[in-house]
Amino acid sequence: MSYFRYIDNGEGPTKLFIGGVHGNEGKDVLPLIKLLKPEDFSNGQIYIYNFDKTPYISTIHKEFYESEQGKRITSIIDYYKPDFYTELHSYNIKHFEHLTSLERLESEGIPPLIDCGEYVLCSSVSPLIRRNHFTAKTICQTLEFPTFKGDDLNLNEKELYEKYGFKKELSVKEYMSFLRLITLSSTRKEFEEWVLRDYKKQADLALKYVKIIYGDNFPRY
Ligand SMILES: [Zn+2]
Repeated sequence: MSYFRYIDNGEGPTKLFIGGVHGNEGKDVLPLIKLLKPEDFSNGQIYIYNFDKTPYISTIHKEFYESEQGKRITSIIDYYKPDFYTELHSYNIKHFEHLTSLERLESEGIPPLIDCGEYVLCSSVSPLIRRNHFTAKTICQTLEFPTFKGDDLNLNEKELYEKYGFKKELSVKEYMSFLRLITLSSTRKEFEEWVLRDYKKQADLALKYVKIIYGDNFPRY
């Protein structure tokens, strides 16, 4: 069942969160979304969508935005015109090196995802929507949670720790602490200050990547 939650916290920013963007990621991120308590949200209008399984097409390919699911998401964005837009994704832990490698810039023309620790990754949103569905002032963020596929599914918690140094509770904690910077901040300024306070290294990388893709006068989030 798709999931939707609306929180009316009065005057303030409009925040849109989307999980289950593609594939079966909704199953991975719904338990994380459910950890958000009413006190985790700032003032404003908050909308959270989490979608059931849809065909997996990468959001860096225009085919995604031409698909039924891609059109659904851009129409939701265009309807709410959020001040904060966040995509909640999951990824196969085996792709960690590839997703965070600078080679992605050369091979796929998009900046790498940024390592936030404990296999949690962050980035902006797809360059295919960043400019034409948002203003420069919109805070656009993607968060990625590690998951396991194939033979890794046979490993227990201890074996996953030995192989990857992965501890689920630590990844959940990291994911939620970044997510709460978004849910709790009332303004762009507040969000920027909190990211610099808690994720300085990641903020510096975000700035470096945004300059490569969008030039000098575009905000890093
Ligand atoms: Zn994804």
